[in-house]
Amino acid sequence: MAARPFAFFDLHVVRATTLSPGFARVTLGGPQLDGFGHGGRDQRIKLFLPAAGHSAIAVPRDADDWWTGWQRMHPAERAVMRTYTIRELRRAEREADIDFALHPHPGPAADWALTVRPGDPATLLGATQDENAGIGFHRPDGTDSVLLAGDASALPAIAGILAWLPAGTPVTVLAEITHPDDRQDLATRADARTTWLTPTADDPQPLLTALRAHPLPGTSPYAWVAGEASCVRALRRHLVTERGVDRRHITFTGYWRRHASEDTLIQEAIAAAA
Ligand SMILES: Cc1cc2nc3c(=O)[nH]c(=O)nc-3n(C[C@H](O)[C@H](O)[C@H](O)COP(=O)(O)OP(=O)(O)OC[C@H]3O[C@@H](n4cnc5c(N)ncnc54)[C@H](O)[C@@H]3O)c2cc1C
Repeated sequence: MAARPFAFFDLHVVRATTLSPGFARVTLGGPQLDGFGHGGRDQRIKLFLPAAGHSAIAVPRDADDWWTGWQRMHPAERAVMRTYTIRELRRAEREADIDFALHPHPGPAADWALTVRPGDPATLLGATQDENAGIGFHRPDGTDSVLLAGDASALPAIAGILAWLPAGTPVTVLAEITHPDDRQDLATRADARTTWLTPTADDPQPLLTALRAHPLPGTSPYAWVAGEASCVRALRRHLVTERGVDRRHITFTGYWRRHASEDTLIQEAIAAAA
C-alpha cells in the first residue's frame, strides 16, 4: 500500500522563546519527527492545539478523512487548527521551530505561543515525503531571479526559501515587520538584497509602496508573495498590470485576512465547497 502523503505527528514543546518584540519561537520535538517530510522553503503544516479550557488535542485520527470528522465535532470541543510554516527542521536533534508573528489581535495560536511550557503537547498534520504538496515555492524554468515579498507572518517562509536557494541566485526581499528590532539574520547562499519595512500611520501598506519604488531583480523574475490577503492581491495586481510579470511566474498566498480569524476563513472555504 502506498504511504499516505500526510500524517499526524504528536509532538511536545521543547522550549518557547521570545525572539523579538514581534516574534515568539516554539520548538517542537519528539521521535515522530523521524517520519516528517520537509522540503524546506515555505513548508506549511497544520498545527492543532487544545480547545479553550481543554488539555487534550481533540482531532480525529483517521488521516484519510480526519477533515470530515473534525468538521462534525463541536467547535468548542475540537482542537483549534491553524496554518504555520516550519522555520527550521533539525533532524538529528528531532526538533522543529515554528515562528509566531505576535499580532495585535492575538487569536488562540499567537496566545499559545506566548504561554506554552516545555512538555506541553502539540499535534501537526504534515507531509511524509520531502517533496510534497505543502510547498508553494516552485521557481519556473525560464526565470532568472527571485522576488520575495511578505509581512511578518511570511518571514518564516522567506527565511526558509532563502536558506534553500542555490548560491548566487539574484534575490530581492521586501520584508514587512512591526518593529525595527524584528529584523532577523536571514542565512542564504543566494545573492540577496533585503529591505526591511515597518508600517506607519502615513503608509500602512509599506510593501506596496516599496514594490512600486523597487526595480525588479533580473530580467524575468519569479515572484513569491505572502501575507495579509488584500495586500497580497494588490502586490500581485501591481506585478501583473504595471510591471508586466507573467502571471504564471507569481505565487501569491493570503496568509491571513484582516478582521477574520482562521476559523472564519475555514468556514468560508467549507461553505464555498458545499
Ligand atoms: C501557508 C501559511 C503559512 C503560515 N505561516 C505562518 C508562520 O510561520 N508564522 C505566522 O506567524 N503566521 C503564519 N501564517 C499565518 C497564520 O496562520 C495566521 O496569522 C493565523 O490567523 C494566526 O492565528 P491566531 O489564532 O493567532 O489568530 P486568529 O484567531 O486566526 O485571528 C484573530 C485576529 O487576528 C488577526 N490576525 C491573524 N493573523 C494576523 C497577523 N499575522 N497579523 C495581524 N493580524 C492578524 C485576524 O484578522 C483576526 O482579526 C501562515 C498562514 C498560511 C496560510
